[in-house]
Amino acid sequence: MESVRFNFPAPEIDQSVDELRKEVRAFLDEERRSGGFVPVTDCWCAGVDPAFSRKLGRQGWIGVTWPRQYGGRELSALHRYVITEELLVAGAPVHAHWIADRQSGPLILATGTEDMKRNILPRIAAGECFVALGLSEPESGSDLASVRTRAHRVEGGWEITGTKLWSSGAQHCQYMTVLARTGERDPNRRHEGLTQFLVPLDSPGVTVRGIRDMSGVEHFNESHFEKVFVPDDAVLGQVGEGWKQITSELALERSGPERFLSTFVALERALQQGAAAMTGHQAAVVGSIIARIRALRAMSLGVAALLGQGHSPEVEAALVKDLGTRLEQDIIERLREFWPVRMKQGYGDELQYLLSDSLLRQPSFTLRGGTNEVLKGIIARGMGLR
Ligand SMILES: Cc1cc2nc3c(=O)[nH]c(=O)nc-3n(C[C@H](O)[C@H](O)[C@H](O)COP(=O)(O)OP(=O)(O)OC[C@H]3O[C@@H](n4cnc5c(N)ncnc54)[C@H](O)[C@@H]3O)c2cc1C
Repeated sequence: MESVRFNFPAPEIDQSVDELRKEVRAFLDEERRSGGFVPVTDCWCAGVDPAFSRKLGRQGWIGVTWPRQYGGRELSALHRYVITEELLVAGAPVHAHWIADRQSGPLILATGTEDMKRNILPRIAAGECFVALGLSEPESGSDLASVRTRAHRVEGGWEITGTKLWSSGAQHCQYMTVLARTGERDPNRRHEGLTQFLVPLDSPGVTVRGIRDMSGVEHFNESHFEKVFVPDDAVLGQVGEGWKQITSELALERSGPERFLSTFVALERALQQGAAAMTGHQAAVVGSIIARIRALRAMSLGVAALLGQGHSPEVEAALVKDLGTRLEQDIIERLREFWPVRMKQGYGDELQYLLSDSLLRQPSFTLRGGTNEVLKGIIARGMGLR
C-alpha cells in the first residue's frame, strides 16, 4: 500500500506574532493580579464572563483575521493562534465569545448576507455578541445527517421547528446557527436537503433550558424551536448546502490549541508547587507530557498555517483532536498519581480546585466536537483505509 502523508507545514512566525504574544501575556498577568479573573480549568468551555470578553474585544483580540470593514484587523491565522494559546494557558474565562470567534464569525463571513456581516461581525469582534452551535439533537449526535429539526418555507421566509441538544453556552448567546432539514429525507442521499440558518435566540417560539453537567454547571442547553419564523436572509449560504458548510467548519472546530490545552493550567500549577521535590520517575512522566504537548502544538500550528492559506484540512484537524483530547485527559490522570484529588473538600486550595474540576470535566473532552471513535473513522477514510 502506498504510504499516506499528512500535511503539517511549519509556519513562519514573524516578529509581530511574538510581540502580540508578549502583549497578550502582559495583559493577562495584570488582569489576574488585579482580580480581573480567577484561572479555571477547561476555560474555553467552563469560564463564562461576558464582561471579560468585552475587555478582550476592546483590546482588539477577537475576530483578528476578519476584514477591517467588519470589525477585524486583517491579521494572520497565527496571530489569532497566539492569542487563543495565551488565553488557554492562563485559564481565562473566554467561553462567551469563543465559538463566535472560532467558527460562527468565519461562517458568517463566508456565507452570510452583507447586512449580517455589517451588523453582526463588528459586535462579535467587540465581545458583545455571542453565537451558539445548533447541530446535535436528541438521537442525532455522531450521525448528524439524521437531524429532524425542520424548516418549512412560508411567506417571506422559513418556519423552524425542532430541538437542539447540548448547545454550549446558548443561554448567554444572541444567536444560534441551526442546522435544519429543508428537503425531503432520502436514505440514499442523507447529506442533501440540509440548510444552516442564523436564528436570533430572542425570536418568539425559542426556549433555551440549561442542562446541569456533573461538575454542577449548566454549561450546555436544550433549545426548543416551535414554529420560529426567520426571514429569507437568515439562510447561511445556499439552501440545501448545509452539510458541505458544516464539514468545512470542522477544521476550525477541531484543530485549535483548545483541543490539547484544556487542562494545562492544572499542569502548570502542579509544577509550580511541586517541581523542586519531584522524583526521577515524576520528572520522566512530566517530561513525556511536555514532549506530547510540543508535538501536538507543531501539528496544530501546521493546521493553522493551512487554514491561513485557505485550505480546509479536515483529516489533519481530526488527528489533532483525537491525540490532543486524549492527552488533556492523560495529564490529569498522571497528575493524580502524585497529587491525589480530594474533590470538593479541596476547594480551598488552588491546585486541588483545578484538579478536581478537571477530573469532572475531562470525560467531555473526547465527546464534544465529534467523538474520538468518529474521528478515527475520518482519519481512516483520509488514509484510504475505508
Ligand atoms: C461538553 C459538550 C459540549 C457540546 N457542545 C455542543 C454544541 O455546542 N453544539 C452541538 O450541536 N453539540 C454539542 N455537543 C454534542 C456533541 O457534539 C455530541 O455529544 C457528540 O457529537 C456525540 O453525539 P452523542 O452525544 O449523540 O453520542 P452518540 O452519537 O450517540 O454516540 C454514542 C457512542 O457511540 C459511538 N459511536 C457513534 N457512532 C459511531 C460510529 N459510526 N463508529 C464508531 N462509534 C460510534 C460514539 O463514539 C460514542 O462513544 C457537546 C457535547 C459535549 C459533551
